[in-house]
Amino acid sequence: MRGSMAPIADTIVAPATPAGTSALAIVRASGPLAGVLASSLSSTPPQPRQAFHAGYQSLAGTLVDDVVAVFFQGPRSYTGEDLLEIYCHGNTLIINALLKDICSRGCRLAEPGEFTRRAFLNGNLDLSQAEAVADLIHAHSERALAAAHRQLRGALGQKIHSFTDRLVDVLAHLEACIDFPEEDIPPADRDRWAQAVGEIRSEVDRLVATRPYGDILRGGVRTVLLGEPNAGKSSLLNRLLGRERALVSPEPGTTRDYLEEPVSLGPHCIRLIDTAGLHASPSPLDKLGVARSLERAADADLILWVVDATRPLPSLPGEVRARLLPATTLVVVNKIDLAPDGPRDALPSGLSCVRVSALTGAGCPDLEAAIVRHADSFRTGPDEDLVAINVRHQQSLQEAARLLDAARQSLASMAPAELLASDIRGAIHSFGEVVGRVDNEQILDRIFAKFCIGK
Ligand code: GDP
Repeated sequence: MRGSMAPIADTIVAPATPAGTSALAIVRASGPLAGVLASSLSSTPPQPRQAFHAGYQSLAGTLVDDVVAVFFQGPRSYTGEDLLEIYCHGNTLIINALLKDICSRGCRLAEPGEFTRRAFLNGNLDLSQAEAVADLIHAHSERALAAAHRQLRGALGQKIHSFTDRLVDVLAHLEACIDFPEEDIPPADRDRWAQAVGEIRSEVDRLVATRPYGDILRGGVRTVLLGEPNAGKSSLLNRLLGRERALVSPEPGTTRDYLEEPVSLGPHCIRLIDTAGLHASPSPLDKLGVARSLERAADADLILWVVDATRPLPSLPGEVRARLLPATTLVVVNKIDLAPDGPRDALPSGLSCVRVSALTGAGCPDLEAAIVRHADSFRTGPDEDLVAINVRHQQSLQEAARLLDAARQSLASMAPAELLASDIRGAIHSFGEVVGRVDNEQILDRIFAKFCIGK
């Protein structure tokens, strides 16, 4: 589908900067009328890619604003079409007046992500790069930014193209065999293809294994604070955030529901989730809170089990204990300012432990370092060349993997060339979906709906 669409007839317009008061704002228009708009701003024909100063007059003849504009002539523009960027003063009244006037000249307001969708349809970006644009805008950590930049530069697309190139090569040989069905596929060819398919299959596995890291880059590390009421979960959340977000009280059970706040720790975004305390004998309302806490713990990347150093180690309900797995749990012994050696009881073996005081901040740098180490453990390779996939990529890659397995089976069982070719073709198609050979408008709608207006 990429690059094969009919030319788009309408011109879209949208603010490219957020609403509110700012020094400057950008309004951009893309499509066939962008050149006409640019010309109407200047007495001389605007030079592509050269900023020019203009007084923006509405069709009704009023001066809307003093602006600077740049005209990008297609295909050398973000969208691949004629595109005009207008830099105006950052006042919502001005932006709205510009949009209204531009629409009255035959343009229409853009849908979310429509500029990037056009860039994709015009072949300026593949679909994985278009998704990277959204990732880049929404990145909350250094690592997420770096991964989005790599994907925008085509890192995932290059891997996918290397798979399809190798498979197209096999397919070309297979087509020749289909043309001469009386001749068997030479064993040497079968061996070579089996090796190629096997290599691609392993590389697909390596890519699929990056999904959990992709999830924490895109969504942050879901870190759930669990523990008895009054253990100091809210105090710890406030300490890690560096501000008073959660209510701290000597009264047990102040957090009945849960609270979620993002915080930057090192190169990561951590989503801290404070939960209701785990009561030994809960009231019906507390029970609801505990059930919610467990739900949060179920899909946590990391559980911080907060233990009060001044009290005996609590005996946790079985369903809670079952969630505290060594790979995803860190015991945080809190209030060491009151009880430097507490608690008296031994902690469950196998669980890592950090000792802190949420009140004084003692031990908190160690806790932060342990959380960052945990986030880093999701990496499957050095960051420089790591591609971290999303759920959509994973679905297509898993379908490709299934078809590659079928192809390997066909090669091993001396199946006819047609059967083999059909599996290889299917795998090529699934790989194609990652970079954008998507023949389903609804999938594209879903992807671009996640963008902001004006991108
Ligand atoms: P939560 O119910 O687990 O969220 O516990 P809170 O954060 O509300 O804390 C309960 C009480 O313990 C409050 O009075 C806090 O001030 C106190 N507290 C929390 N952390 C510490 C700590 O490290 N040292 C001391 N001395 N008190 C703490």
